[in-house]
Amino acid sequence: MEPLAPNLLDYAAERARFSWAGARARLEGCPAGGLNIAHEAVDRHARGADALRVAIRWRGAQGERRDLSFGELSLASNRFANALLGLGLSPGDRVFMLLPRVPELYIAVMGALKAQAVICSLFSAFGPDPIRQRLSLGGGRVLVTTATLYAKKVAPIRAELPELQHVIFVGGEGPDHFDTLCAAASDHYTIPATPPDTPALLHFTSGTTGKPKGALHVHEAVVHHHASAYYALDLHPGDIFWCTADPGWVTGTSYGIIAPLVHGITSVVYDGDFDAVVWYRLLREESVSVWYTAPTAVRMMMRAGTELAREQAFPALRFIASVGEPLNPEAVRWGREAFGFPIHDNWWQTETGGILVANFAGAEIRPGSMGRPLPGIEAAVMRRTESGVEPVARGEQGELAIRVGWPSMFRAYLGDPERYARCFADDWYMSGDVVRVDDDGYYWFVGRADDVIKTAGHLVGPFEVESVLMEHPAVAEAAAVGLPDPLAGETIKAYVALKPGHPPDEATRRSILGHARVRLGAAIAPREIAFVPGLPKTRSGKILRRLLRARELGLPEGDTSTLEAS
Ligand code: ATP
Ligand code: MG
Repeated sequence: MEPLAPNLLDYAAERARFSWAGARARLEGCPAGGLNIAHEAVDRHARGADALRVAIRWRGAQGERRDLSFGELSLASNRFANALLGLGLSPGDRVFMLLPRVPELYIAVMGALKAQAVICSLFSAFGPDPIRQRLSLGGGRVLVTTATLYAKKVAPIRAELPELQHVIFVGGEGPDHFDTLCAAASDHYTIPATPPDTPALLHFTSGTTGKPKGALHVHEAVVHHHASAYYALDLHPGDIFWCTADPGWVTGTSYGIIAPLVHGITSVVYDGDFDAVVWYRLLREESVSVWYTAPTAVRMMMRAGTELAREQAFPALRFIASVGEPLNPEAVRWGREAFGFPIHDNWWQTETGGILVANFAGAEIRPGSMGRPLPGIEAAVMRRTESGVEPVARGEQGELAIRVGWPSMFRAYLGDPERYARCFADDWYMSGDVVRVDDDGYYWFVGRADDVIKTAGHLVGPFEVESVLMEHPAVAEAAAVGLPDPLAGETIKAYVALKPGHPPDEATRRSILGHARVRLGAAIAPREIAFVPGLPKTRSGKILRRLLRARELGLPEGDTSTLEAS
């Protein structure tokens, strides 16, 4: 078979050629007017022979399989849209999903978008309190969930949610049940004219730096979902795509639901937890060609060993991308060993709604760099001044800023207009991430503004320290934090989880410290190393450095609503 030509081959030429109007023209537009995500994702692929193509290939944790074609998804979401109208839903009302990754989740999301509701999908492992916080901030009017999740997590807080009027149960039968409501509703539905700035998606941030914020996005975001998946995920017709993120996070919605559907390709959905053996089997059995995952998963695969991956063959797989945290150079290289090609890091945030900076399939990868801005995205390294912002000198560290105007930019932090306003200076969105850019325009992540360590006159990014620690054969995962020190300002302490077979003893500690000193120099190497069984993470898989720091210093832990139970 001829290898596929990457979508982006000539970076400079593509950037010069690109326009958002051109990107918009690759979509169809809502027949009644405007732009609606569900039309682009589903209905426009539900015609003629295309309707038979598999949109969602669902795989259950017990090996079950269910396919949903574009045609079926179109009719089923029409029914759900009608069912919502039957319940008296108005445009702009919020419909929350608290579901495992079941086919009904995808139907409900598309149906609600057709009805111009704002959807918010919550991670089903949340406990009652995080659910209450989010439903209440979002003013959820409808909740789609299961009877079990409801009994355990919503019933105890229901009285505190006066705005929640309807709960729809997936599974079983009865007047409030998904199947019953949908069976009674018509499968004809015409999406009303949808102005592109109609609110569509509400996402809560991961809560890595503090209390999660609710970021609101509009239907126009679909232009960027489509364009970014084309450039950064290199989606081609006929691809089989698997995004491992849960739809409770922005990645699991923008790229786990919307983008592959908008491209009219098949998306694999796996309703189970991480298990290297199962994941490799899925990749092979489903002939996944493009895979989008996260550094935390890559590190777990590395921990499970390269052999495990090598025992399998993945003839269809041609592109792997990662997002969510910086991808250590070691992980990029590991991809090459395990799969035969490197893992492509890309960067974005809940607020940006889609990928903004990426290593492209057709371009050189610089391991440890998050890549270059997508066509249509103007990025810069800035520092705030009294009156606004100014660029830092070339090569220096500063805050990653994006010129406003890309379609999936968030339009509000729910309930916090001041905080929203503070994210912008002059014409720029300030990301809160510290980066530097090299002479060829590749961006290098240093750390979140809150995590950057100031030690003995140096500004040190935790990522740099952690990546060096990861090079040591005993290290599975590492987190570096700054602790106050009267002399140095801060000293660096590293928390290290070891690979199986390496004892947490003095010899291992000395060996790792020695390696760090050689690679980083004594000034930047960690002063101290603590061995831990695992690192505290958000449920979206991000290392919670602020929690390590707080615990070390005996300070309050702050918001832990997204902390993954360990
Ligand atoms: P909160 O805003 O609540 O503290 P969060 O920022 O972790 O949580 P998300 O929006 O899910 O919530 O994550 C976006 C952040 O993840 C980015 O701002 C960045 O710090 C980090 N990130 C994502 N991708 C990358 C990447 N490729 N390299 C480095 N950091 C990344
Ligand atoms: Mg953030």
